[in-house]
Amino acid sequence: SVYLDYNASAPIDSRVLDYMVEIYKGTLGNADSRTHDFGETSRQVVEKARNEVANLLSIKKDEVFFTSGATESNNIVLLGLKEYTELTGKKHIITSSIEHKAILETTKHLQQLGFKVDYVAPERDGRVLPEKVFNLLRKDTLLVSIMHVNNETGAIQPVQEIGNYLFDKDVFFHVDATQSFGKLVDELRVLKYDMLSMSAHKLGGPQGIGALILKKKRYKLPPVKNIMYGGPQEHGVRPGTTPVALVAGLGKACELAVSEYKENAEKCCAIRNCLLQMLKESGTSYQINGNLQYCVPNTLNICFDGISSEALMLATKQYCSISNGSACNSHSYSPSYVLTAMGLPEEQIESSIRVSWGALTDIQLVQIEFGRLLEYVKGMQ
Ligand code: PMP
Repeated sequence: SVYLDYNASAPIDSRVLDYMVEIYKGTLGNADSRTHDFGETSRQVVEKARNEVANLLSIKKDEVFFTSGATESNNIVLLGLKEYTELTGKKHIITSSIEHKAILETTKHLQQLGFKVDYVAPERDGRVLPEKVFNLLRKDTLLVSIMHVNNETGAIQPVQEIGNYLFDKDVFFHVDATQSFGKLVDELRVLKYDMLSMSAHKLGGPQGIGALILKKKRYKLPPVKNIMYGGPQEHGVRPGTTPVALVAGLGKACELAVSEYKENAEKCCAIRNCLLQMLKESGTSYQINGNLQYCVPNTLNICFDGISSEALMLATKQYCSISNGSACNSHSYSPSYVLTAMGLPEEQIESSIRVSWGALTDIQLVQIEFGRLLEYVKGMQ
């Protein structure tokens, strides 16, 4: 069986795990204890990791705040901005209808609190048009939040254009970079944004750790207020004892990504080309959802005409681990809201699966197991 659900969670890189074990085996002090060496050693590990994250993004170390992951980072951005609303009276947010639930459920909550939220629908190719975002800007717009790469389709969003346009405007720009962090490294290094969210487990780091980036260029203090109350950790943005080994794992994953991202992208491209070739030669009737020209090289969203994705996943489970919709929705089947927002017909949505992989994915295993899946599809069509 081959694991092809990296966008839900990628396996931990063994070098990251080894480093974390090393940290766990050393005596872990509380990184905030100033009274003994264990605290100091832990603090150094944490600060080294902060440097690695900053280095990967070409930003300053003190712009990095560790959180439990992108869900928490997204929540801090949206809920923490409430404070600004009280200061400025601004209550309008622009986002897209294809964001992760960690954005969409939070904005829904904010709407109940009286915020006005506009959800920009994507085009048929899964991309949000920047002009549609710009046209919605109002005097009381506080925040624009657009993801960098969509987790279901792999569609790269025009965040560069949006960031450039908003740069001199009095509006915060947040980017959920969970699916691009450590992958689209060159793009992220030049991107203009105020806040950015990521999770370590999408790039070979451990689950349960991530970061929120708060850029300092436009303000001295973080624009967000803490949503939890407690200790002074992470400058109060995210109180709670710092999970030293998890942070170290994130740092290690970033260090590896810095030196390997180009090579990783090439390996992912090779797997994509292999999958596309196999599809072409399979004799199945299929369509690729979205536009490959604007797609990251580790994701394909495929519709097999006339085949129920639910039935397909069940029948071919022993060959390939794939998904339909995003993992957070896959407890019970409901048609993908992302593909729905793209305007695809219902029967196409119900027949669509997401395949996602990483640089460590074994291409030979893909050939064997995805080949079996294609055989099944052909038999059913
Ligand atoms: N945003 C995006 C775009 C994602 O793909 C995910 C994970 N599927 C998240 C946010 C949430 O990440 P986590 O579950 O690690 O908090």
